[in-house]
Amino acid sequence: MHMNVKPIPTLDERINHIRTTTARLINEHILPHERDIWANPEQVAKVKQLVKEAGLWAPHLPEEYGGSDLSFLEHAYMNEVLAYAPGAASLFGVVAPNSGNQKILLKYGTEEQRRKWLVPLTEGKLQSAFSMTEPESAGSDPRSIKTTARREGEQWVINGRKWFTTNGKRADFLIVMCRTEDEGSDSNGRMTQIIVPTDTPGVQLVRGVTVWGRESDHCEFVYEDVRVPLDNQLGQTGSGHRAAQDRLGAGRVFHCMNSIGAMWRAFDLMVERASMREVHGGLLKDKQFIQGFIADSYIDIQAARLMTIRCAELMEDGGDPRTDISALKVFVPAAFERVVDRAIQIWGAAGVSGDLPLAGMYTGARTLRIADGPDEVHKILIAKNILRAHETEGSWDFGN
Ligand SMILES: Cc1cc2nc3c(=O)[nH]c(=O)nc-3n(C[C@H](O)[C@H](O)[C@H](O)COP(=O)(O)OP(=O)(O)OC[C@H]3O[C@@H](n4cnc5c(N)ncnc54)[C@H](O)[C@@H]3O)c2cc1C
Repeated sequence: MHMNVKPIPTLDERINHIRTTTARLINEHILPHERDIWANPEQVAKVKQLVKEAGLWAPHLPEEYGGSDLSFLEHAYMNEVLAYAPGAASLFGVVAPNSGNQKILLKYGTEEQRRKWLVPLTEGKLQSAFSMTEPESAGSDPRSIKTTARREGEQWVINGRKWFTTNGKRADFLIVMCRTEDEGSDSNGRMTQIIVPTDTPGVQLVRGVTVWGRESDHCEFVYEDVRVPLDNQLGQTGSGHRAAQDRLGAGRVFHCMNSIGAMWRAFDLMVERASMREVHGGLLKDKQFIQGFIADSYIDIQAARLMTIRCAELMEDGGDPRTDISALKVFVPAAFERVVDRAIQIWGAAGVSGDLPLAGMYTGARTLRIADGPDEVHKILIAKNILRAHETEGSWDFGN
């Protein structure tokens, strides 16, 4: 099976070129070796080299920091193609949480911090993690975090406990969200992100939290009197909450385009199986239950895709995307979950096996409804914005 990506007449030439080139690399060099490529370092290096030659390496970063400097919209459109092959993004130099950390270092880091942390991260010489969520406070209300950073002379002294710090076992440094007491500012202004090398005394990796019944790299950390230079703070003291919002805003559109690429794959797998599998004297594709699965999945994918692209275009044009971001953050992972669920059903036992990417997609889709802000929080935001517009403008304008 290959991903069927043709130029889109309404898109500019460059975005079409990025999409079709990405699809060619995926179809020719990744999908045929999908099961064994990860155990073959030579094959991995070869694909990475081809990606660099195609000018698509690290699309989210400027050229001077080793990236290919794609615009927001170019990157969003690239993601739906990239996510068709699970894991392919790592061969293109975009891996969470490193990619989010790279963006934060780029926007908030000093030139010295960028040279020290960002460049080696992009070159693959360092790994990183983002440590914000805590077991003892609600991640969906980041202002409630308890981890503190206290200024002592020329150092920050950090104390607290975090969990779900993804990539924690491999990370060389962590970006830790801390409460820095800065009297006079509101609770949003009391957060600061601080770079903490993992080998700093007092950093304790407690465990990889078991996720979906498996050992994972989403780690629990204790920070006990961890001392780092004041220079390790990112941006101004108190800018941590703003930086986290920056990280999540554009990131949500990218994640949704990823979900759409993954849904596209699940959809193709569903249709392929329906066209081949004979049950009770006929092919699955001729049964109306199954035709319903295919039609409902088409509707889910188109709705999710159009919603996400509309939001990406709004952001590109400088509009206020907050309501749209929340809407797609609720709708797209749920649509993703439904599409994968139907694909699994059509494949029967094979659907939940490790022979297909569907089981991983399913747990991934479910997790997305919690991470990056749970559904309920986004629904509250949508309703608030609509009610405010109702008060000030009379009603909501769906055309803008
Ligand atoms: C696989 C995975 C990877 C992750 N990686 C990272 C990472 O790298 N770094 C990091 O810092 N964090 C990470 N997280 C954590 C993630 O960001 C949090 O789980 C998320 O923010 C939710 O926080 P919480 O788990 O504390 O849930 P809580 O904040 O306790 O919320 C629990 C539930 O309460 C409900 N709820 C919350 N607020 C409201 C409300 N106002 N009204 C009604 N209901 C509400 C929702 O149903 C929500 O799901 C990861 C999580 C997962 C699952």
